[in-house]
Amino acid sequence: MMHCHCSMCRKQHGAPFATFVAAALSGFRWLGGEDAVAGYASSEQGVRSHCRHCGSVTPMLLPQAGLALVPAGNLDGDLGLKPQAHMFVGSMPKWYTITDSLPQHAGMPPEFGGGLGVERPAVAQREGVADGSCLCGAVAFEFRAPQRMYQCHCSRCRRARSAAHGQNVFVKLDDFAFTRGEELVTQYKPPEAQRFTQAFCTRCGGKAPSVQRARGVVVVPAGTLDTDPMMRPMANIFVASKAPWFEITDAYPQYAELPPP
Ligand SMILES: [Zn+2]
Ligand SMILES: [Zn+2]
Ligand SMILES: [Zn+2]
Repeated sequence: MMHCHCSMCRKQHGAPFATFVAAALSGFRWLGGEDAVAGYASSEQGVRSHCRHCGSVTPMLLPQAGLALVPAGNLDGDLGLKPQAHMFVGSMPKWYTITDSLPQHAGMPPEFGGGLGVERPAVAQREGVADGSCLCGAVAFEFRAPQRMYQCHCSRCRRARSAAHGQNVFVKLDDFAFTRGEELVTQYKPPEAQRFTQAFCTRCGGKAPSVQRARGVVVVPAGTLDTDPMMRPMANIFVASKAPWFEITDAYPQYAELPPP
């Protein structure tokens, strides 16, 4: 079980990092919905896939390596396995800090052949503005004056981002604008949810900001950011729903559910 900080994972998951369980392909099988899996060729080497209905990241099958890479955020129950290392920390944004003591690899760990990731073109930081885009780059946006930023451990965020937790920036509607590709963004709302929606690019499955007009707010998944969000997480929220395999080691305040108003 490994945490991956590569830019592709951050874009696809919308989370600050992704976590995968590597399992023998021979032990993997779909239980349903394989026809809902959509693929996107994110590089020469790889196809990334997601559920076309909700945007969750789906397992990556690597026949040559005999492996299935399964996003841990979508696991039910507890394998008893814990994360063992961080990879592609060389691709981490400057504004993110690792606070646990697991081994760190700049790129791919040596036992998997080493090598660095596919780097995305750098986006220059603008004064007072944050920029972001999806995995394929067709969707892009900008915002000013972020209001709040939380790391959310709720089961919806974990499932939607297919990650240990979500990391979301809340922006006022008037301070946010899509700069391209808004027509490619679709939203999925779980039937029982009051507010939660997942927005994603229909071309690549990469996460996108969720525009909630009625509330006058836009929820930006921090993994989509190309430049500094100009604020840092204010707290870990919904920690009562935290993944059993994930340990919080940062110093941000923790709330069992919502933070105080
Ligand atoms: Zn990755
Ligand atoms: Zn896209
Ligand atoms: Zn959440």
